[in-house]
Amino acid sequence: MTTIFAKIIRGEIPSDMVYQDELVTAFRDISPMAPTHILIVPNKVIPTVNDLTEDDELTVGRMFTVAKKLAEQEGIAEDGYRLIVNCNKHGHQEVFHLHMHLLGGRPLGRMLSKPN
Ligand code: 5GP
Repeated sequence: MTTIFAKIIRGEIPSDMVYQDELVTAFRDISPMAPTHILIVPNKVIPTVNDLTEDDELTVGRMFTVAKKLAEQEGIAEDGYRLIVNCNKHGHQEVFHLHMHLLGGRPLGRMLSKPN
């Protein structure tokens, strides 16, 4: 299975990559919603959170420690930031390759707007 993010990870599609190791890759979102908007993605294609297994726990843990390091690098750690993982239709997931959004650099407001 391949995805647009798998192509970015393999270097087949250009991206502003900010981190890569044997488990995860991070690159800037093409359509940023905040001054810092980075996607942290497992190198292996895992479509959604629903597809995670215990074998992926090291990778998921790495996503968080990389988020922490990148927040420090971006200078947003102290003021704070938001980590988001969307899942399926109600989560408004658009790319079916698990990814964590790291957003910061401005006040982000409440977590969700209330339904009308
Ligand atoms: P989702 O809604 O699935 O959680 O978020 C997908 C994110 O991927 C969106 O914020 C979108 O802007 C970003 N995105 C989609 N295609 C590309 C791409 O080709 N390159 C980069 N860097 N980001 C992308």
